[in-house]
Amino acid sequence: MTSATDLLTPLRRYWGFDSFRPLQERVVRSLMAGHDSCVVMPTGGGKSLCYQLPALVSEKTAVVISPLIALMQDQAAQLAQMGISSAVLNSSLAGAKQSLVMREAESGQYRLLYLSPERLARADTISWLKRVPVAFFAIDEAHCISEWGHEFRPEYRQFSCLRVHFPDRPIAAFTASATQRVRHDILEQLQLREPHKYIASFHRPNLRYLVKECHDREQSSLLVRILRNYPNSNVIVYAPTIARVEETVDFLEDQGMAAVGYHGKMDTDTRRRNQERWTSDEVRVLVGTIAFGLGINKAAVRAVIHLSLPKSIEQYYQEAGRAGRDGDAADCILLWQKRDTGLLAHFIEQVTDPAERERAWQRYHAIRRFAESGHCRHIQICSHFGERTKWTSCGACDVCGCESQWLLKSMEAEPPARTQLSMPEVTHVHEISTPAPESVATGGDSELRDYIREWRREMSKEQGVPAYIVMHDSSLEDLCRRRPASLAELLGVSGFGERKTELYGQLILDALARFDKGARAAPPPEKRSRPAEDTLRLLAEGRTFEEIARIRGRQLASVVGLVAELVERGKLEFQSGWVESDKQQSIESACARLGIRWLKPLKEALPPEISSEEIRLIVARLRQQQLRASA
Ligand code: ADP
Ligand code: MG
Repeated sequence: MTSATDLLTPLRRYWGFDSFRPLQERVVRSLMAGHDSCVVMPTGGGKSLCYQLPALVSEKTAVVISPLIALMQDQAAQLAQMGISSAVLNSSLAGAKQSLVMREAESGQYRLLYLSPERLARADTISWLKRVPVAFFAIDEAHCISEWGHEFRPEYRQFSCLRVHFPDRPIAAFTASATQRVRHDILEQLQLREPHKYIASFHRPNLRYLVKECHDREQSSLLVRILRNYPNSNVIVYAPTIARVEETVDFLEDQGMAAVGYHGKMDTDTRRRNQERWTSDEVRVLVGTIAFGLGINKAAVRAVIHLSLPKSIEQYYQEAGRAGRDGDAADCILLWQKRDTGLLAHFIEQVTDPAERERAWQRYHAIRRFAESGHCRHIQICSHFGERTKWTSCGACDVCGCESQWLLKSMEAEPPARTQLSMPEVTHVHEISTPAPESVATGGDSELRDYIREWRREMSKEQGVPAYIVMHDSSLEDLCRRRPASLAELLGVSGFGERKTELYGQLILDALARFDKGARAAPPPEKRSRPAEDTLRLLAEGRTFEEIARIRGRQLASVVGLVAELVERGKLEFQSGWVESDKQQSIESACARLGIRWLKPLKEALPPEISSEEIRLIVARLRQQQLRASA
């Protein structure tokens, strides 16, 4: 019976999509037929639809368990805009609201009900769920269940109780990253019964993997050069630490490139605002720690750049995989340094549990092999996930001869980037931009695209929802390509279901009409922060580093890092008041013994009361003296 059910009509009506992506229809039908299933599909492959559509047609309630509250809330907001009823139950809701949701769930109001793992663990949850007309359970990000996965979450372990309490309800597990070992764990932990397994290929042919080992100083200049290849495109830069995030943002801004930061120590408001400025295309470059990304629903990302070696191939695949989710060409660039391996090893040594430490070492060796070996990167990734490829050369990675100007150019010929840290005329990204490689250039009317993006930003502010919930990147592209002249034509644009067309249709047609009459997006504001200049000014005013950190909204380490750079480059005189004189002497004698190339051995050799910041400042002065002597 289910094989005959018409699924294209609801797909069209609610989602505004014309066809299924690979595997989606089979997963949907398998769930509708009551089978357990395990679905492994890359990020952006469209896993949500696999449980949302059967939930919609079931007229019962699918219970979705997902690790991040923000992620669940975004899905619920998207469903609301499609006219599908859903709710999120988590501890952040007020008590009265929680009981309301629970009552409505019992009466079968929701097609989808999102629960956090913690919520499921609560003693009263199971008995309440037994009163809910459950269609099936969907476990999202299911690799979190396995200790072999890179994101193990102990709360995921209790899901084995679902099978016991709901023996006749299907369970479906979804993940984007699972080695065979992790997959095995998922099946076992969830006690899946003869599950249908759907494993999509891990090969992302629209992605180009480019890996380059860099020396200490060339990374920043390389980063700037790379970024210039993606003018007007969204890029994610992953930095290994919070300090590196802030330093990189400051550095880019000093180069005249707008960028926003994202890390776990930012206050929630700033973090959310930065994320939104990036997702709504206001600022194109986001520099984040690994805290950034889970559940980010941005399809048009043209490059993901890593500034250090990730902990595992899974982690790399997931983070790099945030590029090109719209299916268009995109680049994944890994700039790593030998010293990253030392740092990773250092952290692994701190792991106390021997089994966990061993797993961490295995991940370490795998990612190192990936970075260092001369084998096709695409093949290496596929085979890591147990997939055998038919081809032997992809033509889309540095190993298989994918040439990139920045990759080929000899580093030595370039002056070290940091010498440009002075405050010369602003160099506009747009002016210097070398032409984007054809593969990543975007065609069509860019003025129209900018105008619609601006419209989307305003709408998202007005409605208090993320920009992509108003309109997904791919919908925006399709809209600009088709330029619908009527509501009926708008329904033909990808992502415009009936409800969404009702909500925004007329507003969009009006915006298109205004554009035809000559309206254009406002040019980006000229307001630009000048980190080096600002810091120099604050120092001249007699501010302490702590005050500057507070005023500039930075960590102390980042402020000191910037000051040290300025000292090193001779832009700022070292002041003896920065470091107590007896400490100065200890640091200097350690430098005389150990040299001034590396900071870590100095920190280890010196007593703990001498901070990394103090060492950094003294080293900067010594380096400056050395430079001057050699000049
Ligand atoms: P995943 O969870 O696998 O990372 P999502 O479920 O978030 O992926 O889907 C990624 C994007 O693909 C979403 O914007 C979604 O709307 C879009 N998408 C999913 N299925 C289809 C489809 N059949 N046609 C067009 N777009 C789709
Ligand atoms: Mg998902």
